[in-house]
Amino acid sequence: MIDRWNRTIDYIRISVTDRCNLRCIYCMPQEGIEARPHEEILTYDEIIRLCRCFLKFGINKIKITGGEPLVRKDIAFLIGQLKALEGMKEVTLTTNGMLLEQYLPDLISSGLDGVNISLDTLDPLKYQQITKKDAFMEVYSAIGKALNYEKLKVKINCVPFSDTDQKDLIDIAGLAKNSRLVVRFIEMMPIGLGKSFTYYSEEAIIAILEEVYGAFEPVNTVLGNGPAHYYSLPGFKGKVGFISALSHKFCNECNRVRLTSEGYLKTCLHYEQGTDLKAILRGDREDSYLEQMIEKTIYEKPVSHNFKGDNPQGAYELDGMSRIGG
Ligand code: SAM
Ligand code: SF4
Repeated sequence: MIDRWNRTIDYIRISVTDRCNLRCIYCMPQEGIEARPHEEILTYDEIIRLCRCFLKFGINKIKITGGEPLVRKDIAFLIGQLKALEGMKEVTLTTNGMLLEQYLPDLISSGLDGVNISLDTLDPLKYQQITKKDAFMEVYSAIGKALNYEKLKVKINCVPFSDTDQKDLIDIAGLAKNSRLVVRFIEMMPIGLGKSFTYYSEEAIIAILEEVYGAFEPVNTVLGNGPAHYYSLPGFKGKVGFISALSHKFCNECNRVRLTSEGYLKTCLHYEQGTDLKAILRGDREDSYLEQMIEKTIYEKPVSHNFKGDNPQGAYELDGMSRIGG
């Protein structure tokens, strides 16, 4: 559907849990966050019912996220059900990759179209310092296994920050050299714990990588569902991309909304603006009322984030990324 700023909204990120098996220092405090009780989290039937409504508005691309989505039971079942909905174009998953290898066969059988794996370093010790778990090998091995499924799109998401050094950037980008991997660098956003870290700008990263890998060539074909833009590098099989919310604000092209695990339809990462769809779902209302509320909520999506603090447009989001889903 088209929002009041004339943007086409056709993509939703659905968080299926606020729980996580890692504690990335910019995302979740070491002691964790108080997990919402299970009964507060949308059931799969509720998510599917909502997705049928979203489809009526042309929202036909879904990213399953968390917390860590693979810690929720039977996630492949949900993905299969979503893929079977009439008009669904694409269902993808974003994961820290720790449990990916074990669930890959089921995810593939369910029709998963793509997986984004979060990885900030290729140094196992540093990985442990960032995530608070000695799990690098599980993630690294899962990447290789995922690449074996030819039809599965596989991307790496890296969020560089003050502790990231040039070697990390070079190593992570290098993953795209001999494989079809698409590696994306995401600028750290000032949400939750992310506020305490400075972001690495796209320009700074390109300058470092060009010294090692040669000139970046912009890719003009559409490669994903969202705001990332991509480059090819000399001799690289894969691509390198950037999601630069701060240095290249892309709100005028924003095509997405978010559904939290508690059923809150959230229209901008930065603001708390949205609608509690769970209250409607559980309030015995007809789908027509749900649809009316979805349409109204999305239509009023804020014009842009305000990460640089120059143009506030409402109450800011107070929850961290692990609750919002990235
Ligand atoms: N646990 C899954 C994972 O790590 O991919 C899914 C949820 S996680 C919140 C989704 C993505 O958000 C991850 O790639 C993570 O690195 C990123 N992220 C977390 N905090 C961020 C921040 N402040 N700015 C930008 N990206 C962030
Ligand atoms: Fe968990 Fe993902 Fe946040 Fe890391 S980024 S703590 S894996 S939700």
